[in-house]
Amino acid sequence: MSVSKCTRLSGALVKQLLDSVDSILFDCDGVIWRGDQAIPGAPQVINLLKENGKRVFFVTNNSTKSRKMYADKMTALGFDVTEDEVFGTAYCCAMYLKTVCKLEGKVYLIGSNAMRQELEAVGIQQTGVGPDHICGKPIDWANVPLDPEVKAVVVGFDEHFSYMKLNRAMQYLTQQGCLFVGTNRDTRLPLEGGKAVPGTGCLLQAVETAAQREAQTVGKPNHFMFDCVASQFGVKADRCLMVGDRLDTDILLGSNCGLKTLLTLTGVSTVADAEAHQKSGCPERQGMVPDYYVESIADLLPALQG
Ligand code: PLP
Ligand code: CA
Repeated sequence: MSVSKCTRLSGALVKQLLDSVDSILFDCDGVIWRGDQAIPGAPQVINLLKENGKRVFFVTNNSTKSRKMYADKMTALGFDVTEDEVFGTAYCCAMYLKTVCKLEGKVYLIGSNAMRQELEAVGIQQTGVGPDHICGKPIDWANVPLDPEVKAVVVGFDEHFSYMKLNRAMQYLTQQGCLFVGTNRDTRLPLEGGKAVPGTGCLLQAVETAAQREAQTVGKPNHFMFDCVASQFGVKADRCLMVGDRLDTDILLGSNCGLKTLLTLTGVSTVADAEAHQKSGCPERQGMVPDYYVESIADLLPALQG
């Protein structure tokens, strides 16, 4: 297809694009749902793509749910999905520690219960997520000795992030050979009405600042999430499409991995944002320019129903 980048996808071009791929990676928040509500038409699009023989995967930087929790949420919203099609950063982080880092030892975890579960599912023990109080009294972590078996500090989304956790992470990270892994660097999580809350990137930066070290991250735009999907399902990059609502995570991941890219306007980024990258002439920003854009993934429906 010889069309210029950042082209509105409509009419015959939709079918042409879908015919050119076997697999489609969907970002979740802002693409197939917003918060607890499915984007109108999204379940039909996903289910029809599968009926048409496409392989569909879900890649999310949100580390607060395990694969099973995502599959349950999506099933309740009307998506035809299995656990093994979902690649969240809680799961991918556990896979990264296991397969890339070949971690032997425990993790000091700043994160969610879902992260604890995914680590345990691959046989990695963790310390950190648990009660802050024993018999109603706060635990005085400053006086609890460090666990000598901890060989990595992992940071994901943690709504109970605290000075104590920051201090503990710093103590582990100043020990020789301690790995440092973050789930993702999203700095802000958008809410309805233009509001936002701080994302994992803020917590990770606090730990990096304290430890004076930079973490490796697993989530988009790092290629590891695509590698995970590709190695488990034999996905070929040139026959794969990445659909996302953020230029700096989803579209950049697609560009980093040689995938076709589609921006949907139901989430964070706008066409004006994409055009600003394109017009900047800055080579490093061209990876954030999508091949195509749609108002919503529901725009794919006519081509699938025809
Ligand atoms: N991290 C957290 C904690 C979130 O709640 C969200 C969105 O809800 C995200 C990251 C971004 O998720 P996604 O990659 O699906 O857009
Ligand atoms: Ca998103």
